[in-house]
Formats: sequence, C-alpha cells, structure tokens
Amino acid sequence: MKALVYEGPRQVTVKEMPDAQIEKPTDVLVKITTTNICGSDLHMYEGRTNMEAGRILGHENMGQVVEVGAAVDRVKKGDWVVLPFNIGCGFCTNCEKGLTGYCLTCNPGFAGAAYGFADMGPYSGGQAEYLRVPYGDFNCLVLPPDAKSRQKDYVMLSDIFPTGWHATRLAGLMPGESIVIYGAGPVGLMAAHSALIQGAAKVYIVDRHPDRLKLAKSIGAITIDDSKVSPVDFLMKETRDLGVDRGCECVGYQAHDAEGDEQPDMTMNSLIGSVKATGGIGVVGVFVPEDPQAEDPLQKKGKLALDFGKLWFKGQTVRTGQCNVKHYNRELCNLIHNERANPSFIVSHELDLDKAPEAYERFDKREMGWTKVILHPGN
Ligand code: NAD
Ligand code: ZN
Repeated sequence: MKALVYEGPRQVTVKEMPDAQIEKPTDVLVKITTTNICGSDLHMYEGRTNMEAGRILGHENMGQVVEVGAAVDRVKKGDWVVLPFNIGCGFCTNCEKGLTGYCLTCNPGFAGAAYGFADMGPYSGGQAEYLRVPYGDFNCLVLPPDAKSRQKDYVMLSDIFPTGWHATRLAGLMPGESIVIYGAGPVGLMAAHSALIQGAAKVYIVDRHPDRLKLAKSIGAITIDDSKVSPVDFLMKETRDLGVDRGCECVGYQAHDAEGDEQPDMTMNSLIGSVKATGGIGVVGVFVPEDPQAEDPLQKKGKLALDFGKLWFKGQTVRTGQCNVKHYNRELCNLIHNERANPSFIVSHELDLDKAPEAYERFDKREMGWTKVILHPGN
C-alpha cells in the first residue's frame, strides 16, 4: 500500500509499504478515505520528538471497514467509521472510566497509545491506504448514513474537534462565561467553535496569522493579534481588570513570540495573567518531559519558568493532557449530524496522498491560507 513515511527531520516521503492487515482477532481493517495532517504531526516532522525513522504518520483517520477479525462483533464490513487518535483496550481501569487517552494496556509501560505517534506505541498511522485498528469494536465510531458525503466534518471527530471541546471542559467553561483561547491553529479554532456551541458569552482568541484570525472572526470569536497588542493588557481592559473567566492553551511547547523566537512558557504565563482569580485554565497544547533541541535550558529538561506565585495568589485551576476522544466523539457526532456543528470550516486544502510531503512543508511554515490539510489516500 502507499503510505506517508517519516524519514527524519523535515523529511517525509510517500512510498510502498507492507499492507496493513488483521493481526489479532479483535482487529478491524479500514480503508482510509480521509486523513488529516495535525499540528502534533509537525512536532514529529520537525524532529522535536523521539519519532523513529521509517514509521507511517497519521492519527486523524476515517474510512470504510474492509475486513473484521474473527472476534469482532459489532462493527461490520462496509461500515463508515472514524477512529479516535487514542487507541484504548476498553478493559483497563483508565479505559473503564472513559480515560481512553491513558490506556494502560495498549502501550505497556506508558499510559496512552495512538496511531503513528512518538512514544505512543508501535502502531502505524493512517496517512496510508489502509489502517489496522486494534480492539475494533471498542475504537470504531460507526457513522450515520451521511458519512460519505460529509467526511470533511466527521474526520474532525478523530482528534481536533474533541480536543478543542476538551480544552473548554478542562477550563470548566459554563454558559454565559467569557473565555480566551491562545492559538488559532486548528485546535484553537475548534476550541472557539466548541465554546460558542456551549454558550460562552464572549470568546477571545489570540494569534498573529491573519488568515487564522479571520476564520475565528467568521464564527463569532473576538480576535487579538498579539503582534500588535499585548493580549493580557487587552483582556484586562475588556474586563475592567478582572480577567476572563476561563482560558485555553492550544499552542504547546513550541510557543513563540510574534518574531518567531521560541518561548515555551509564554502562553501559560499569558493565561495566568489573563484569566480571573479563581478561573480555570485548560491546557491541550502538547508539552514534553524533555526537549533536547530547545534553545531554552529549562525547556531542554521539560521545565517551564511558570508564574506560579501569581497562579497561586489568583487561586486558578489548571488542568492538562491528552483528549480522551472516545469520551466525547459520539455526542459531537450528533452535533455534526444535526447541523449544530460544522468543524470543516477550517479545511483549507483537500489533497491526494502523493501531495502530502509538500503539504507538510507548507503547513509547517504556517503559510498563509494553509490552515488544515486533509488527504484522501484510498479513494
Ligand atoms: P498549529 O501549530 O497549526 O497551531 C498553533 C497556533 O499557535 C499557530 O497558529 C501559531 O501561530 C500559534 N501560536 C504560536 N505561538 C503562540 C503564542 N505565543 N500565542 C498565541 N498563539 C501562538 O497546531 P494545532 O494543530 O492547532 O495544534 C495545537 C497544539 O495542540 C499542538 O501542540 C498539538 O500537538 C496539540 N494537540 C493536542 C491534543 C491533545 O489531545 N491534547 C490533540 C491534538 C493536538
Ligand atoms: Zn491530531
């Protein structure tokens, strides 16, 4: 089968790889019709993770079931399915509680497994014609009859729509409250979409890319261009020095200033500054335990120079981590099916798998107009 393979920093190629296949009776084999490039792929693409050369990338996957293992009961050949980027077993104590991002059995010695991901187990990614889905009955969300025609929306259930939603839940957003989102990439835009659906009174979003801010504005968010104003000053003025009720971190450890210099503590400290005393902060941007290639000596060791005293004085709550996609995807699917959510508004490019290397390069540069790339390998 054709697949997108990570060869080393900023080097990905599309080539023939052994076909994905059923390896255990509980597996399902899916022909991938739509798969996305994610901001998380870029951490790997840039060589800022432990990703091994030779592995197939891609964790935002959907498609049609072509084969099921002998122990698969519920999922049938021909079903249209979307796969959470986390792989869960369904029977460990974390999966039982809905914490499928922290499965204890799929990647022994580590809590959490995913397709085509550094440190998340040996599983191949779905930027390929076929994908092996472990514990298929548990991990496949079978989609409604409009699946084929609305793939651009449904594919977002694999990761970024639930992740954006998760950011607002970690922050504790309630209807009528205000919220600020740092980062207007795909995840930040999904957090803004989610906050508006949940009845936030005011949704602010911070970034410096005009195309991304324009998309945020088009759905009703209030945009803050941090190359022009200090977001903390702006928000303090807006809230008569009280701060906004909630905040979301949708950038991660490669946060940088508007000139491009990396400052991994920048968004967290801006959040501590912008959110009210007793407010909540949800952190879905990825931070890593070590980052040897960082310039910042603290960040090399996975540490941040956090304004912890200010956070403590303000009595804020910070919650972090991977999104447990399965905890949200069924209900978010209902929102899409009933036209209450349309996460596809962020899609800028739909390409063949062959075009993936160029797409990685341009998305990585955050070129104007490249907000979200979706690929169609197995059409
Ligand atoms: P992206 O890189 O396309 O978007 C990040 C955006 O942040 C960019 O538009 C960039 O301009 C902006 N930015 C950079 N520094 C900033 C700063 N100091 N202030 C404000 N904005 C700043 O990535 P994405 O796909 O939107 O993903 C965002 C993060 O979420 C990544 O770290 C990704 O790995 C992570 N992620 C986490 C989960 C999870 O389960 N927790 C799931 C998916 C993605
Ligand atoms: Zn992703």
